Amino acid sequence: VQYVYRFGGGTAEGKVDQKNLLGGKGANLAEMASIGLPVPPGFTISTEMCTRYYEEGERFPDSLREEVAAGIAHIEQVTGKKFGDAADPLLVSVRSGARVSMPGMMDTVLNLGLNDRTVEGLAAASGDARFAWDSYRRFIQMYADVVLELDHGAFEEALEIAKEDRGYTLDTELSADDLRALVDEYKGLVEQQWGKPFPQDEHDQLWGAVGAVFGSWQSDRAKVYRRLNDIPADWGTAVNVQAMVFGNMGDTSATGVAFTRDPSKGDRAYYGEFLINAQGEDVVAGIRTPQYLTRAAREEAGAKPASMEEALPEVFTELAGVFDRLETHYRDMQDIEFTVQQGKLWMLQTRSGKRTAKAALKIAVDMANEGLITREEAVARVDPQALDQLLHPTLDPEAKRDVLTKGLPASPGAASGEAVFDADTAERHAAEGKSVILIRTETSPEDIHGMHAAKGILTARGGMTSHAAVVARGMGRPCVSGAGSISIDAKAKVMRVAGREVKEGDTVTIDGSTGEVMAGAVATIQPELAGDFGTLMEWADEVRRLKVRANAETPADCQVARDFGAEGVGLCRTEHMFFEATRITAVRQMILAEDETGRRAALDRLLPEQRSDFAAIFEVMAGLPVTVRLLDPPLHEFLPHEEAEFAEVASAAGIAVDQLKRRAAELHEFNPMLGHRGCRLGVTYPEIYEMQARAIFEAAVDVAEKSGEAPIPEVMIPLVATKRELDLMKAVVDQAAKGVFSERGREIDYLVGTMIELPRAALKAGEIAETGEFFSFGTNDLTQTTLGVSRDDAARFLGAYVEKGIYAKDPFVSLDVDGVGELVRLAAERGRATRGDIKLGICGEHGGDPASIAFCEEVGLDYVSASPYRVPIARLAAAQAAL
Ligand code: PEP
Ligand code: MG
Repeated sequence: VQYVYRFGGGTAEGKVDQKNLLGGKGANLAEMASIGLPVPPGFTISTEMCTRYYEEGERFPDSLREEVAAGIAHIEQVTGKKFGDAADPLLVSVRSGARVSMPGMMDTVLNLGLNDRTVEGLAAASGDARFAWDSYRRFIQMYADVVLELDHGAFEEALEIAKEDRGYTLDTELSADDLRALVDEYKGLVEQQWGKPFPQDEHDQLWGAVGAVFGSWQSDRAKVYRRLNDIPADWGTAVNVQAMVFGNMGDTSATGVAFTRDPSKGDRAYYGEFLINAQGEDVVAGIRTPQYLTRAAREEAGAKPASMEEALPEVFTELAGVFDRLETHYRDMQDIEFTVQQGKLWMLQTRSGKRTAKAALKIAVDMANEGLITREEAVARVDPQALDQLLHPTLDPEAKRDVLTKGLPASPGAASGEAVFDADTAERHAAEGKSVILIRTETSPEDIHGMHAAKGILTARGGMTSHAAVVARGMGRPCVSGAGSISIDAKAKVMRVAGREVKEGDTVTIDGSTGEVMAGAVATIQPELAGDFGTLMEWADEVRRLKVRANAETPADCQVARDFGAEGVGLCRTEHMFFEATRITAVRQMILAEDETGRRAALDRLLPEQRSDFAAIFEVMAGLPVTVRLLDPPLHEFLPHEEAEFAEVASAAGIAVDQLKRRAAELHEFNPMLGHRGCRLGVTYPEIYEMQARAIFEAAVDVAEKSGEAPIPEVMIPLVATKRELDLMKAVVDQAAKGVFSERGREIDYLVGTMIELPRAALKAGEIAETGEFFSFGTNDLTQTTLGVSRDDAARFLGAYVEKGIYAKDPFVSLDVDGVGELVRLAAERGRATRGDIKLGICGEHGGDPASIAFCEEVGLDYVSASPYRVPIARLAAAQAAL
């Protein structure tokens, strides 16, 4: 097996489509090298090696040594330098690179190959002793941290003391001699903490670094990141070893990160940051505030330090050419790292850039309009889940704002919450159901869990490409970064800004679209659904086969759903109507009635209420089908709890409180989920379903008479297990319809169907379809009953099940395709065999989950039904499933 793949010097052994093998970074370095872009030569050790490394107890096979030696020889040949050469040494970087980027999660070592001899060679060859000793100093510090895992605080402290002793404030004030002394001190620290001297042999250094990068795949923070982002542990990481290029060799050297388009808003403009005379991680770490790439961006921000376009015009022009080349080659927005070494441009990385949902939409639509990609590709490019970010409120521009300061608009959206100053507190308070804003001087990968728990993130330092900004955009959290006028005392849990104090627990609001930071909460408004969003949705609708409906039971929800493009109601849960304060007494009276006469008296009072509910929904959904499900939950859910409630019901029903309580006790069930609910209510008390059916048809006739357009009711019977149940219930519904139609002298088309939410119903679907005119898969209950896992108790143990890989995802969120899915598939087949044109849909929570929607497409359902806010997500997911 080949484990090492070389690139650079005009050739490459790897290709861009080998991301699984070479990792994203390695595959793209190979690709850039092969299209002739300036890439420092190097080689990639494949992800297969990572897997094997762990299989063999964290050891490397002998064959790898030969391959790595050949890789080093390749770099030596292209650069004309020798690894370990005391006169002019080859230095390399060692970086991780998984299949998908995991920003800041794993380890990097730079300047590898420096030792007490080669540092002198570097000084002589570069003619810059300060640069050489600074590189050695950085190398020891990084190596001690990443490879030897020593306490990095001690090294930082030594650096601070070195500056303080000499009265300096900046690192750059340290002279070559100062740095030489610091190197001695660092070596002392290594020996003291590690018990051995700092490794002088460049090959030992290399193997140490390679091992550390593979080792970082199993670090705690990488594990957390993988869990949050559904990245399997067995993917492994690749290791990239590459000739060093230096952005810190004076004023014609620089290093930067850039996007070929604005990753926040999506505008077509080069977008990025760079630092003159700086090395690699300085930009991302947010230690120095970076300079803008273009003059326009600098002027817009009102910033002083020259942009790259102004400071290094020739290299900038070359870079702009590379950007265009990369976009046409990759046909996507690219996120780039580059270094300029004494006027020469080097590309260190390219990858598809992470972007906000807003930018993803704009870029996809723009690129399709530019002819760079097709409309189908544009549809495929946008992550349906990410639309969530756009479907939620932003700050009301009319609302009063108490602006404390302004930072960078690092990730859009607005959020209010309690100020917290560390990740653990953020996580704890969020778990208690509070909204929190995490406020940090700058974030690091250790803060990931807190960022995830927070509603928004605010940092005092760092640019648009700082860790906080990149991670927040990926998570869809609003973020304001680099709010420089804030000073944060994390220990005292307070931030000071503009002469004011914000303490832990005080409410603050951030607007990640403008960068504003405000005291208190600020009102929000609904999102704009036209523009790029509307365009992409239209394109999605052109390719989508599945219809998308909504689960909604109020006219307001129905209106939201319709605005979001719902093509009907897939589930109107009528019990939700029973909870209304104005009718709960009548509902309780109905439930607690001793006999049919008592029940009918209460039902007569509910009928007009239900009728007007349905009429309002039919009006909003005019011309579209509305699936109304008859009463489902166990009756005890509606029972009174408080004395006053009992008294009220007793007096309304004209019976004694004691008698009422006795009746309530009789209704107690040991396992209500499997108890007297669903059609079992209709079987035992047909008058309930009769009333509901009558209300539906009366409302339908009312609306038809009023508007001239008849609604399309689909009456749905819940929790059916047998054909006989459905036969009985359908007879009740048909009887009611007949009665209403003859009374009113008008007929309305309607369907009667059933939910498939019990395994027996799925198995006997062929028979049930003789009566049922449609099926709607109630995958919440079907999951519960197939897995034998209670919907309401699953949270206690399902987390462990997902962690241990028993289920890939929470089966109540994403359909268990192998198990529950098989029942769905089978029921669809058997139902269709009986009734060729049977209408099939899904109305469990899975109807809004993209992976489950892909499955629904595969088995050929007619529609999915999701909560109103998920309707656009479902439309896009359905389109992607059809592509
Ligand atoms: C279901 O069981 O999937 C369903 C939609 O019904 P409910 O969630 O109301 O039980
Ligand atoms: Mg159900």
